Amino acid sequence: MSIVSIVKCESYAPGDVRSAVDQAIDLAELRDSLVNRRVLLKPNLLSARKPQDSVTTHPEIVRAIGEIAAESGSRVSVGDSPPFAGRSEEKYARLCEITGIAQVARSIDAQLVRFESASNTIVSERGHIYKSFEIADAVSGADVVVNIPKLKTHGLTGFTGAIKNIFGCIPGVRKGFFHVQAAEDRTVFAQMLVDLFALVRPGVHVMDAVVGMDGDGPNNGNPKPIGLILASGDPVALDAVACAVVGIDPLSIETTRLASKQGLGCGDLNDIEIRGECIDDVRVEGFKLSSGRSEWKKIPFPIRRLLRRQLIAIPIIRQRQCTGCGDCVTVCPVNAITAGKPAAINLERCIRCYCCAEVCNFSAIELKRGLIGRLLKSGR
Ligand code: SF4
Ligand code: SF4
Repeated sequence: MSIVSIVKCESYAPGDVRSAVDQAIDLAELRDSLVNRRVLLKPNLLSARKPQDSVTTHPEIVRAIGEIAAESGSRVSVGDSPPFAGRSEEKYARLCEITGIAQVARSIDAQLVRFESASNTIVSERGHIYKSFEIADAVSGADVVVNIPKLKTHGLTGFTGAIKNIFGCIPGVRKGFFHVQAAEDRTVFAQMLVDLFALVRPGVHVMDAVVGMDGDGPNNGNPKPIGLILASGDPVALDAVACAVVGIDPLSIETTRLASKQGLGCGDLNDIEIRGECIDDVRVEGFKLSSGRSEWKKIPFPIRRLLRRQLIAIPIIRQRQCTGCGDCVTVCPVNAITAGKPAAINLERCIRCYCCAEVCNFSAIELKRGLIGRLLKSGR
């Protein structure tokens, strides 16, 4: 039976975090995985934002896990593949300073790595759609990958937790290819994430839910105090429990539903052993979903296909907020954005992947529901 630990942690004060992470790891029986290994810490480093913005995994959580691994005789490295800032050494170094990860790496004597090179394509027969991936060398060279997601909403997948965080194991620009392939089909994108997870299979997952993000996550939502650290060896179970804590039906998240159905983990709360706090005692009220989250599951599949352009939210530039920085232009996988102040989106070409909203640091891209999506939401 999958185990998920839930431990209260009300602040990012180093002593509180270390104590809570220690408890969460012990309750989930994960400490042995961190002994005398090459351990890679994989936080969510989406963009160059300060820890208090709640976009990235808080550096104190990363520090606590790094300390535990180092004290257990492991050699520790830490890194990620941010969609925009990961494209150059200089931008990545700046991101690591702003997010606080560089200071953590220095303090625990960990190697800071950028997931840019992928020397080999790794093949897996377990994939349902994708049977091979180019995985970052830093990931394939580690004995243990410690996945350290942040609990947040996400315009495309609804929720970003443990499974979505593994997308960062694919180096830089190669991630855009999968958005293009999935186009507007969210189930295909979710299946890609599940196929990738089946290949990488990190052994340890510790979720930063001290302060999460609701609303228009993963980059432009609102910090949401939750006061928890969760840990598990099963990311499917971890995401299911995290969703339940913030009031999301776990199996409404495609990655959880597909991974559970395909036997890669457990998405059924009845079959998960919860240790530490009970879900009912720590449930969070008023957690807002992303406006990009579609309501199309309420509509029969054939009609859904016909109407999907009206159901899926579209990215709209908020002209006054756009600084013309051009990050969205660089990241768009189908070249649908023209540079300028404000930038301009060609909605005919756009595949609704929301990478632009993910990288915009100025909240200048709104995800606006189509008419039917708005009607369905107001009818909830
Ligand atoms: S929309 Fe955002 S990312 Fe794009 S140019 Fe404007 S400020 Fe930059
Ligand atoms: S405009 Fe934005 S949502 Fe549309 S394809 Fe480009 S990055 Fe994706």
